[in-house]
Amino acid sequence: METSFEISVTPSTDPVGDARLAEILAAPGFGTHFTDHMYVVEWTPDQGWHDARVTPYAPLSIDPATAVLHYAQEIFEGMKAYRHADGSVWTFRPEANAERMMRSARRLALPELPVGDFVASVDALVRADERWVPDPAGEKSLYLRPFMFASEVFLGVRPAKHVTYMVIASPAGAYFARGPVPVSIWLSEEYTRAGRGGMGAAKTGGNYASSLVAQQEAIEQGCDQVAFLDAAEGKYVEELGGMNLYFVHDDGSIVTPELSGTILEGITRSSIVELCGKLGHQVDERRFSVDEWREGVASGRIAEVFACGTAAVVTPVGTLKWAGGEVTSGNGTDAGPVTQKVRQTLVDIQYGRAEDTFGWMHQVC
Ligand SMILES: *Cc1c(COP(=O)(O)O)cnc(C)c1O
Repeated sequence: METSFEISVTPSTDPVGDARLAEILAAPGFGTHFTDHMYVVEWTPDQGWHDARVTPYAPLSIDPATAVLHYAQEIFEGMKAYRHADGSVWTFRPEANAERMMRSARRLALPELPVGDFVASVDALVRADERWVPDPAGEKSLYLRPFMFASEVFLGVRPAKHVTYMVIASPAGAYFARGPVPVSIWLSEEYTRAGRGGMGAAKTGGNYASSLVAQQEAIEQGCDQVAFLDAAEGKYVEELGGMNLYFVHDDGSIVTPELSGTILEGITRSSIVELCGKLGHQVDERRFSVDEWREGVASGRIAEVFACGTAAVVTPVGTLKWAGGEVTSGNGTDAGPVTQKVRQTLVDIQYGRAEDTFGWMHQVC
């Protein structure tokens, strides 16, 4: 793949010891341990992208007036590196993450990092920290977090003239210790995630910041996650705080909310559109109202509901709760057959246990 700049590599002189690493990889959790290295590249209008490097992982020293701390000009990505049984290491559709980050960058008035340089940045970090990619047993992986932020020291309001892009990595355990268990969802009728012309289609911290109070409300209501409705009418299902939604009908046809500009285009979501088509399901991307969800589950017309995203891949959804009632799809304790099939097929491709007929996998080392 074409790249536009070189990356220098300075190996850590103090990497985590083998015994400690083995301990971490035995129970990595999520997002708490970080690898020995990080990737950094800077951008200015005059120099463009420059000074790309893989260096020892270390805290940043940030001036209190750094623009991102005030105006949240920031975007990020989330992806994983998977070890296959033969020891090789792969990522899943990294070009799709690169392209999405370019779209997010345009929306947040940040510079675009070319696709080839994005993929090269992730590859460079994974190669430097290859020993941090866990064995595939138990669906462990190395979670990768590319992100870009306004690093100019300036309190004026305009797009920053100094921008930093980085990649950090963190080993991740299986999302579910005992296999996928259905999550319960709180329907947020007070808060919305994104409106017309807003940032809903960009992967940016601000969307997460605005979702936290709704997520808090979900927890108070005894639910695991929050679902958002469209901001204009409060009628149509958009997505969860960080996952897209799928509805499976009793005749096998599947619906997922259309890309309206206010939902995030998940790479898991679009992969499942393709996969389900190939598995023989009719897949519709269209507006889907919360009444259709409630009535469909109540009548049995909707057989399964699931959420999807990189972190958990596919998660069955059990109960939908709102102020005044609740409905539960499936038996509330297991994933339905379509949910299980979709999840297994995707995971098998990611871990190299099934043939990658879509050409989704990218070998890193
Ligand atoms: C990242 C994200 C998703 C899932 O996207 P994937 O590419 O499948 O991981 C869904 N919704 C939001 C709001 C997200 O930020």
